[in-house]
Amino acid sequence: MPTFKALVVTKPDTGYACDFAEFDEQDLMEGDVTVRITHSTVNYKDGLAITGKSPVVRRFPMIPGVDFAGEVTASTHKDWRPGDHVVLNGFGVGETHLGGYAEKARIKGDWLVPLPYGLSHAQAMAIGTAGYTAMLCLMALEAHAIAPSRGPVLVTGAAGGVGSVAVALLAKAGHEVVASTGRTEEADYLKDLGAAEVIDRAELTGKVRPLGKERFAGVVDTVGSTTLANALSMTKYGGAVAACGLAGGMDLPATVAPFILRGVSLLGVDSVMCPLVVRKEAWRRLGNELDRGKLAAMTSTVPFAEVKEVAARILEGRTRGRVVVEIG
Ligand code: NDP
Repeated sequence: MPTFKALVVTKPDTGYACDFAEFDEQDLMEGDVTVRITHSTVNYKDGLAITGKSPVVRRFPMIPGVDFAGEVTASTHKDWRPGDHVVLNGFGVGETHLGGYAEKARIKGDWLVPLPYGLSHAQAMAIGTAGYTAMLCLMALEAHAIAPSRGPVLVTGAAGGVGSVAVALLAKAGHEVVASTGRTEEADYLKDLGAAEVIDRAELTGKVRPLGKERFAGVVDTVGSTTLANALSMTKYGGAVAACGLAGGMDLPATVAPFILRGVSLLGVDSVMCPLVVRKEAWRRLGNELDRGKLAAMTSTVPFAEVKEVAARILEGRTRGRVVVEIG
């Protein structure tokens, strides 16, 4: 039986293991499309899955990797033919369905989107789940009529993956972007991506007051916890906060004051089960609106062999921007 190279998470008696292995093709899961994967990437959730730090993986053995780009090699799905170039992210891939850290995947054709026009596989993965989530946040703020004329937009965890793409996309859309980071040495990097101002994340981690000074018309929050609570209290009357992350914690020590006294809206953003029609629009816009030079500036590339090392670093908040993994 043919095999292919994969990173495989298992649950031996000793706990949790993640190692490279030759995976039997016959052990691939059900699906109507087979893809030769060329590139994947490392998102925060991949870090959790590889290290086992949070229960992201819900089936064993599992190939982690929540997204990939590649070429269709076989299909019985009406929309896909061998030779098509595709992107996949979410739908439980890398969590409940075998994922992207492998030379091959078998998945449902309904989960795929076409590689956006003008993007290479590597560029699509430089965007990856993180960049696509940043676009979903921008779209959520736009749907709430947060126009540039209403005031600055805050991005938290700005030097991370979602944050870096959010800074570039918001700036391109004409917003005055305030980038919050724990790494103020990355101020020049963030200004090059389009931030008008860079603030220390400590400004958002102090005691949460029910209402703070009204500073931001909108917020893209990747951090959660006290940071999100403070961002809410600093949001202007009628503003909106798109919450997508928990890099600083899953709790939310906030009060209802911003909602009931300033009409602030908290907009939840989920990328995993996001409907295909929204997903396709987000990828289409990323293909059109994300500056390729800025995308390159925020991206580093590693060989497949280094993915475990990067997973550990991303959980420590030590990766900058996006990390692409070359699979084959
Ligand atoms: P990254 O690690 O690349 O970015 C997270 C950033 O958050 C870090 O770079 C750092 O930025 C900041 N940060 C890290 N730890 C802390 C901390 N303890 N307190 C405050 N800030 C911290 O991860 P991603 O960009 O891939 O993901 C960001 C978040 O978004 C994650 O929580 C992830 O799970 C979530 N996410 C959610 C999705 C959804 O569907 N809702 C989809 C994709 C991601 P800096 O150094 O600039 O402060």
